[in-house]
Amino acid sequence: MGMFDSLIVSCPDCDGHIEFQSKSGECILRNYTQDNLPTEVAIGMNGDIESCGKCGKSLKLDCLISPYARIVLNDASLGDSA
Ligand SMILES: [Zn+2]
Repeated sequence: MGMFDSLIVSCPDCDGHIEFQSKSGECILRNYTQDNLPTEVAIGMNGDIESCGKCGKSLKLDCLISPYARIVLNDASLGDSA
């Protein structure tokens, strides 16, 4: 079984958590939050869609590099009509 790092974010609709997994970066089974997520790990999650295990809400993770590395979580149920 492969190793991965995880990003845990809070669900915007309930008190559940949504986990994104990355196989880039160190992959030492670390759990990150949006505040301490390394850029190389964020890049490995770019475009991933995960669902809340509690309410089923889907979020799409977009990794933006410019002007600074950060991630943006979008409601995946809205499609690409941003
Ligand atoms: Zn939820």
